[in-house]
This record gives sequence, structure tokens and C-alpha cells, in this order.
Amino acid sequence: MTVIKLTNTKTRKKEVFEPIDRNNVRMYVCGPTVYDRAHIGNARPVIVFDVLYRLLRHVYGPDHVTYVRNFTDVDDKINARAAESGRSIREITDETTQWYLDDMRAVGALDPNEMPRATEYIGAMIEMIEGLIDKGHAYAAEGHVLFAVESYEKYGALSGRSIDDMIAGARVEVAPYKRNPMDFVLWKPSSEDQPGWDSPWGYGRPGWHIECSAMSYELLGESFDIHGGGNDLMFPHHENEIAQSCCAHGHEHDGGGFANFWLHNEMLQVEGKKMSKSLGNFFTVRDLLDGHDGMAGVPGEVIRFVFLSTHYRKPMDWTAEKAEQAKATLTKWWDLTAPLDTHEFAPSEKFLAALCDDLNTPAAIAELHRLAKEKDLVALQSGLELIGLAEPITFGQGSLGVGVSIETLGLANRIAAKWMAYRTAKDFSQADALKKEASNLGVELTVTKENNVQSATATINGAPSVQDLEGLL
Ligand code: AMP
Ligand code: ZN
Repeated sequence: MTVIKLTNTKTRKKEVFEPIDRNNVRMYVCGPTVYDRAHIGNARPVIVFDVLYRLLRHVYGPDHVTYVRNFTDVDDKINARAAESGRSIREITDETTQWYLDDMRAVGALDPNEMPRATEYIGAMIEMIEGLIDKGHAYAAEGHVLFAVESYEKYGALSGRSIDDMIAGARVEVAPYKRNPMDFVLWKPSSEDQPGWDSPWGYGRPGWHIECSAMSYELLGESFDIHGGGNDLMFPHHENEIAQSCCAHGHEHDGGGFANFWLHNEMLQVEGKKMSKSLGNFFTVRDLLDGHDGMAGVPGEVIRFVFLSTHYRKPMDWTAEKAEQAKATLTKWWDLTAPLDTHEFAPSEKFLAALCDDLNTPAAIAELHRLAKEKDLVALQSGLELIGLAEPITFGQGSLGVGVSIETLGLANRIAAKWMAYRTAKDFSQADALKKEASNLGVELTVTKENNVQSATATINGAPSVQDLEGLL
């Protein structure tokens, strides 16, 4: 049996991964707050945990892995966006959720098995908060409910901080109703014009952290295998999730239960600098896919390849040069594997061993280079398939004509995305016109619906010219 080792933030060690139940390996990853396009940093955990998901499916079987990633659709940033744009909260969260799915599918991420929205689990959150109050881990004060950090002796264990260090180092919100400045909000009051739900503490809405504790409990149970996210979430978000879940389920002394393995990806930078709007090096996944600021678009598979070239626990630098190299490598490898008329799946042992060694994707890619050099094409193709790079990424399962170039496919995908955007905006006359023009060039646009989420598929039947396709964008 293949042995997977993962670095567990909880123990700060690389450990052999043994699932609680081999028939149902369970993973939870914190998802986005849906008020705006995902920036390229947000795609890092998505791609990293997608590769882990694929590896787990390979080792334990595709029907024996449950992957949950949430959508945070109640948050003050969303309220602010609604207020400033004059649009409804639901319109903003629906639109952003669809964008997120389109963008993450475009970088080759499989949809998780469950994608719960926080607002659909308010009842479960209220129940969990009531339980915490009953057990003395939380208290109601002035319409708020706060978690009492001193009631959980292991608070801070994940990130390795004491409560005193946290108070000294953090920008904590001091409020008169807090017993300890580190106590965090489980529930807060809403005014009439803010989103809210009736609760034992009045009309209000949940704090951020409780949703992941409630949704992971509902969908994965009290204990599960892996919890992931970016390392900026380790404190306070993950620390608070642990406190809530352990205390709600009777593990306040041993800190047990909840997630066995905690995995954190490092941050992404751009051209050596922290990404920020003021430095002008901030861009979204969509900017990158479609082209921005005079730069050409980068196909999703190239983005994916660049991301996987750096180990997830190292800071990663996005550079245009890396994208160029990645594109050249993928083109070369696909040229090599294109004539293969077998679907035999046989990744090399070294390739698998690299992935199983704490998801060492750069070592796995180095092995692919070796396989390409030695013309071990079945192993090359199989390795690429395992990490979701065997072919250009399409929206959905569009069938590709033979000999379609990456450029053509990238353009067809962008046309599909543009068509979807018209449809989302209910601009059906523009959508229909675009569909017709695309069809005239041999690109058929269709919509597929899964889990209530729509995505567009471009199927290339003819041999459209790059120039003609560009004309539609
Ligand atoms: P947010 O919507 O800000 O909560 O972020 C969603 C996910 O993206 C979280 O897992 C974050 O840790 C992750 N994330 C945010 N910024 C970056 C970055 N620059 N590099 C890598 N991951 C990031
Ligand atoms: Zn979370």
C-alpha cells in the first residue's frame, strides 16, 4: 500500500498519513469570502489541495474521498460591497460564487464533493453556539455571544502562541462586553438593514469562525482527516475553529477530535514582492486568464503548472518568465504524448513517491522531465494525468478536435467564459449572438449544470483561426 506523508502543522512534523476510515477519507479546506474576483494568491490553496484530493482519490479510490470546501457568503465585506454598489447581497454572492467556480475550474481544479454556503447552515451554527454556552465555553453579552478563550486550555497550540503573547502581538478588538480581549465573536447583533437571523440572543448573524466548525461537523462529522488552508488562516481562524469544535464535542482537555492533520500552504508573491493594489502587481485569476494591462492571457494549465513547480510549504513567486517556461514545457510534453493511442495508466514509482512525500510537486515535475527525456511516454502521460495536466484544461467535458493548439483552446475557453458572463448578467441577446458567431467558426458553446452550478463548455469541431477567435473577444 502506498504510504503518504504529510507535514502536520499540529505537530510540526512530517507524519505518515493514516485515515480514520479508509473507505471515507475526509478533507475540509477553507474557501473564499464571496464578494469579489479571486486573486491569484487565492488559487494557490485551491490548486495545492486539488492535487492532494487527486492523490487521495488515486490511493484510496475516487469513491472513498470526501472533500468539502465552503463559501463564506455572510461577511461584513459583502455587506459593504452591496451597500456601495446598490446591489443585493444575494446577487453579489451568487455572481461571485459562479466566477470563483469558473476561474478555479479554468486552472484545472476538480469541484469538491460538497461546497456548502454558510448561510445554509445558520441553524447548525446556532445549535453549536448554544452547546458552547451550556458547557461554559461561551457567554452572551449585549446581543453578542463570545467564546471564552480561557475555558480552553490548549488555545494557541496550533500556531504555538500563548494567550498573553497573542494579546501583546495582535490587534485585538477591545470591547466592554469581553471578559478577555482575546475572546472572539460567535454571534453578533444585526441592525434591520443588515443580514440577520432570529436567534436566542436576538436578531443577528454569526462571526466568521463558527461556520467552518458547524459545516465540517455537519458534513464530515466530529473527527476527520485533513483540514487545509493558507497559512495566514492559522491564527486566528484555525485556532478558533479548533477551540470551538474541541469544546463543543467534549475534547476541551485533550484537544483531540476535529482534524487529525492540519496542512497550510505558504503565500504567493508576484515578481518578488507581496501582491498589493498599491504596488500595481495585484491581479485576479481572471485577469491572468484573459490578459490584462497589455499582457496576453495565460492558459489555465500554464498557471497550474507554474504553481506546482514550487512546493506548497515554500513561498511562491509568480513571474511572467516562469509562465513562458511552463508553456514551452507543456507544449513539448503534449507533442510527445499526442501520438500515444493508449489510455494505459502507469505513473512511475519515483513520480508517485514524490507526490506521497508531503506533496513534493517540484520533485514530481523533475521526474516528468526525466521521463520525457527517456521517452517513457506512458509514465509521462500518466503522471501528467494524475496532477491534472494531461491535456489543455477545458470548461466541462468538451470533446476536442484533433490537432487543436493551446492558443486555440485558450481562446475558445475565453469565449465560453465571455458567453457565460453574458448569461449570468441575463444579457441573452448578446449571449445568443456570441454563440452563433462562435458556432460559425466551429466552436460550439453548451452549458452543463451540476450541483446547481452552471458552467460553459466550448467544443471545437472545426479549425478556427486564432485571428477569427480573437475577433470574438
Ligand atoms: P480569503 O478569501 O482571503 O479568506 O482567502 C481564501 C484562501 O486563499 C485562504 O486559504 C487564504 O489563506 C488563501 N490566500 C490568500 N492570499 C494568499 C496568497 N497571497 N498566497 C496564497 N494563499 C493565499
Ligand atoms: Zn475555515
